[in-house]
Amino acid sequence: MITLPQSATIDPVIQKKLDAYPVDIRPKRWNGKAKSVTHFKLEVLKHGLTIQSGKCAWCQLAVGEEGRRTPHRDHIAPKAKHAKWTFLPQNIVISCEYCNGFAIKGEIDTISVLADDYERCTFHVVHPYIDDATIHVRFVPDATNAPIIIQSLSDKGAWTIQKLKLDTPSMTLERAKSHLYERYAAQLNPADRALFTEAIALS
Ligand SMILES: [Zn+2]
Repeated sequence: MITLPQSATIDPVIQKKLDAYPVDIRPKRWNGKAKSVTHFKLEVLKHGLTIQSGKCAWCQLAVGEEGRRTPHRDHIAPKAKHAKWTFLPQNIVISCEYCNGFAIKGEIDTISVLADDYERCTFHVVHPYIDDATIHVRFVPDATNAPIIIQSLSDKGAWTIQKLKLDTPSMTLERAKSHLYERYAAQLNPADRALFTEAIALS
């Protein structure tokens, strides 16, 4: 997982409209077509892909055009359990469909001690905007500093790795493949790199 400097900045007029929705209908509104909702969703997606360099906040594999995984707007505290924070930018990161999906993160409650204010909650999960991820997890260093083999450094790190299945053999292999791909592509000259990119896009 990664540490992020700041969440998306939303036009205050839009945010005010979203905050006016009664708490219990916010998750339903999330899937609606209201202009303020689509604006909010577009902003958090754009912002997230930029500050996360197109990588999933949890497994760190590429999402979007570079990767083959669809970027999801992932509610850190799931909106099904914490409807209040459906439209809180600080509660949203970009993740891949696997990490955000039912089989992994789904609707797992990431909050251990609930408070009225989001900032005063205690989280089970290593929170990308609140925590320094380097205190909780690390990648085993190798000669190229490749982020492949993950280890926990704290209980919070262990919870996150276990619940998000970040150390399974398949996840570790995916990170290794991704790293090898990046190294290979970086070694090509621009013309060959363009051919390579074209070839893998068609595969
Ligand atoms: Zn992921």
